[in-house]
Amino acid sequence: MRIVNPATGALLKSIREDIDSRLTDKFLFLRVGQAQWVKTSLADRIKIIAKFSELLEKHIEKLAGILTSETGKPLQQSRNEINGARTRIQWMLDNAEKYLSDEWVTNTENLKEKISYEPLGVICNISAWNYPYLVGVNVFIPALLAGNAVLYKPSEYATLTGLEIEKLLARAGVNENAFRVAIGGKEVGDFMLKLKCDGYFFTGSYKTGKYIYEKVAAKMVPCQLELGGKDPLYVADDITDIAAVAAATADGAFYNNGQSCCAVERIYVHENVYDEYVAAFVKEVRSWKLGFPTDDGVYFGALTRPEQLEILENQVNEARAKGATLLLGGKRIVHDGNYFEPTILTDVDNKMKIMQEESFGPVIGIMKVKTDKEAITLMNDTEYGLTASVYSSSQERAETILSQINSGTGYWNCCDRVTAGLPWAGRKHSGIGATLSHQGIRAFTKTKSWQMKG
Ligand code: NAD
Repeated sequence: MRIVNPATGALLKSIREDIDSRLTDKFLFLRVGQAQWVKTSLADRIKIIAKFSELLEKHIEKLAGILTSETGKPLQQSRNEINGARTRIQWMLDNAEKYLSDEWVTNTENLKEKISYEPLGVICNISAWNYPYLVGVNVFIPALLAGNAVLYKPSEYATLTGLEIEKLLARAGVNENAFRVAIGGKEVGDFMLKLKCDGYFFTGSYKTGKYIYEKVAAKMVPCQLELGGKDPLYVADDITDIAAVAAATADGAFYNNGQSCCAVERIYVHENVYDEYVAAFVKEVRSWKLGFPTDDGVYFGALTRPEQLEILENQVNEARAKGATLLLGGKRIVHDGNYFEPTILTDVDNKMKIMQEESFGPVIGIMKVKTDKEAITLMNDTEYGLTASVYSSSQERAETILSQINSGTGYWNCCDRVTAGLPWAGRKHSGIGATLSHQGIRAFTKTKSWQMKG
């Protein structure tokens, strides 16, 4: 497998993909390792994961450099990601005991009833490249804390990061047979579906998620999917600081080059503030620097996958052919790396691909609406249901709108953010199940109900 720097096109490393027999061996090692790992007390597992988090901090510069080299994200955003992952880990460490300990329901002399939370066993974690630390720790940290062993496949675009994670977990004290990395792409992921894992936890596209869901159904084990989005944002006409709202929402659309599952992908703006908002939005985005991801002050680095350039170009061209107005950007930049101009389109509508299909890049469509009701209808007009956001001076107005949107997360005066204490869950084509919060800890357990008389 060739690992290429998306910012330059240069070969970073050639690495051997795992063949089927190697994957089977890893799985069998994990089966044995899990039986040992589960005997490590929860208190000790917590200490070991805390040590892993310390190692992330200690080696942040090296790790951020590797992440940037294989994904093309600006170095500072790589540092931010690792720090964000550490914040999530801390929440999990602080709450693991609370959500993994036995829960007493009845405790009388004649009757004792409790719920215990047992690990699933060996779980399979197939992951995405856009935030390998963040989406990774959502799964493998609570899985390990709960006493599972993990076969973790980083995306083929984040393999070097996956191998670093494996090294640091082992150095922190995770039994080497409790966490193993599967190296490779689609075929390796496909083979993992044949193994007798006790749970499948996937982060990636709807297309792959649907395939995995169907493929593992007959196993009758938990299968959780964190998939894509086409997340809408509505700017109501009672906002006061239009420039600040434009800056915050542009960041929600373009951070990480728009390659976030919860990136703002569609913006609806009330007609009373539309012109001013659009002008401020364009001004803000124009002020952000595009360049080599290791250069200082760069906001737009390279896109991770070369294929995405064509998808973005098609979306932009189709929208323009159907009447959209191009206010900024619109095309790839001719360079050895994968660069696309930050692109802003207006006069768009929901029939265009740019307002329906996940873009996963630095492009955004902004549409004018007349009423909150129209905004609600348009925001709900999607196959996806990850997040939705409303900017308004009125919490009541925002809550009224968001309560009518079919999405796993509702944001008022914020967007494109994830908090460890809240369930991270998509609806419709955005996924099944939740990571983070108490749900995301217990997702890696099976309950046992104890009814004891004596
Ligand atoms: P992808 O579906 O192309 O790949 C994801 C993983 O699946 C990779 O590791 C890949 O090797 C593997 N894979 C591909 N085909 C497979 C197959 N047939 N069988 C088994 N495994 C297979 O997605 P991606 O491009 O890595 O990630 C981008 C997508 O992930 C976007 O849609 C994004 O919105 C989504 N995402 C969602 C969340 C969330 O929390 N909801 C977070 C991050 C990314």
